[in-house]
Order: sequence, then structure tokens, then C-alpha cells
Amino acid sequence: MGGWIETVTGKIPTVDMGKTLIHEHFMFGYPGYSGDVTLGQFNRDEAVRVGIKAANDIMKYGVKTVVDPTPNECGRQPEILKEISEATGLQIVCATGYYYEGEDAITYFKFRQILGTAEKDIYDMFVAEIKDGIAGTGIRPGIIKLASSKDEITPYEKMFFDMASRVHKETGIMILTHTQEGTMGSEQAKVLIDAGVDPSKIIIGHMCGNTDVEYHKKTLQTGVKIGFDRFGIQQLVGAPMDEERIEILIKLLDDRYENQIMLSHDSINFWLGRPPEMNDEAAHLVRNWHPTHLFKNIIPVLRKKGVSEDVIEAMFYL
Ligand SMILES: [Zn+2]
Repeated sequence: MGGWIETVTGKIPTVDMGKTLIHEHFMFGYPGYSGDVTLGQFNRDEAVRVGIKAANDIMKYGVKTVVDPTPNECGRQPEILKEISEATGLQIVCATGYYYEGEDAITYFKFRQILGTAEKDIYDMFVAEIKDGIAGTGIRPGIIKLASSKDEITPYEKMFFDMASRVHKETGIMILTHTQEGTMGSEQAKVLIDAGVDPSKIIIGHMCGNTDVEYHKKTLQTGVKIGFDRFGIQQLVGAPMDEERIEILIKLLDDRYENQIMLSHDSINFWLGRPPEMNDEAAHLVRNWHPTHLFKNIIPVLRKKGVSEDVIEAMFYL
């Protein structure tokens, strides 16, 4: 892919991204975490330490770049990402954008929607962050993060899609999405492409939440890339098992879609607020939800199933 992309340490040619994990979070908190400050007090040093460890672990497998699409209101802190990047040499791309309505802090822009300024406000936020950097840090987002709900793109979410399309046409910035349980992927692609977004600059995320091969093909035929980016998340948040992901992936690889598929984990290396507590069964199911699971456990399975090294590598390059 041609062009340039902003990382937290500055602009690089997109080809220099090299081997990339397209969707991992160094830190993440569900909106509301900032109220739980007594028991969930933020330990910055620990967040940096955990981030550096994760970065070093990932780099052992040849990864040069991680895209961290943490939405603005879910604890995005670009200066911490920059510190992790500078300490390890891992290139990190951060985002601008808001989460889907069901898990978002929606009140802020809903209020502005009532006042009639929300779209302009979202547009101005995207432009200011892309042009001048995030909150006075000078660190620029390399992607716009968009998100939609299960089985629908709500009017609230649609505002972000519309404004992102406009900003993309002005700047060429890449767009990466969240689909809930892998639904609405082809619809997201259609909304963006109809608005004039270059399909090669669109990554429809979390598509591995959907086990319908025809639906995947319908989405891929629009020319976008899709994320099989939740390896290790099993059953939690409506996710399928890794085995099911692999089965669908192999079918798409049989049709030579490897250049349009990106593999990742959607790992959360440091939780903002209190980390979630899980019962034994849930904890067991997500025991491999960490950012080296693909290299340790999934790629060996793909090899055994006859997927070639070239095809495996292709799914880590934009
Ligand atoms: Zn995510």
C-alpha cells in the first residue's frame, strides 16, 4: 500500500509498517472506568511496564508495527504509547474515534446532537487531531476508528461514519472499524464506499465474529480488508471459538483472499479501572487472549492444515 501513515513517533511510509498486528490495545477501559478511581486507581508506571513487556514479546516474532485503535473515550493515552514505542522500537499507530453506541459514552455527543451541532463537532474533532495532534501532545492518529452495533448502524453511529468519510476524502486517512459480533461488515463497507472512501483504505474489524462464509465474500468483494482480529477471545462478548475462526479463514484462503485479511487478537494488555474478574470457565476460554497467541498457537495449526508461509505472512501486511 502506498502513501504515508502517522505513528505515535511521527509519519512513516506505509510500506515501512512491515509486519503488523492490526488491532491490539496497550490499555483499554470501558467508558465509566474513570469513576472507579478508588479501587481502580491508574498506575501509570505499571501501564508503561506492561506495555513495554507486551511490545518486546510481540517483536520477537518479527512484528514491526501495532495498530492500537483504542477509542478516544476508552482511555486512549498517546503519550504512554509514545513512551512504549521509544523504549522498544515498536512502531505504534493510534486512532481518533468513538466506540459503538451500546458500549460508548454516548451522552456527550447525543447532547450535542439535540443541539444540532454534533456532526460539525465530530468533524472538527477528527480534523483537529489529524492536523495538530491529540490534546496538545503533537501526536497524530494514523487511523479513524468507527464502530457499529449488532445488526444495525444506529443514527448516532452513522454520524461518525459520515464525518469520517468526509475527513478521509480530505486527508486520505485510513479507516478501521469495530463490528459487533461480526455483523454489518458489508453494510459498513457500503456506507463508506458510497460516500467516496477508497476501499483499499478501509479495514472492517472483528469479522471473525461471523461464521457465514458468503457474508465474508460479499464484504471482501467490495475491495476492503477485513480483520480476523479476535483470536483468543472465545465465547466472551458473543465471540466464536478459535476453531470456528480457523475453519472460516481456511475457506477464504482457498479463494485466495489472503491479501485482504489481517490477523490480530484485540488483546487488552492493561485494563483501566479494575481488571475484570472471571469465573474459572470464562478464564479458561480466554486463556490465550494475549498478543502472541497467533504465533504460538494459531499459525502452527494453519501450517498443519497446509497454509503456506507466504499466505500466512500476507495476513500481517497492509
Ligand atoms: Zn478493540
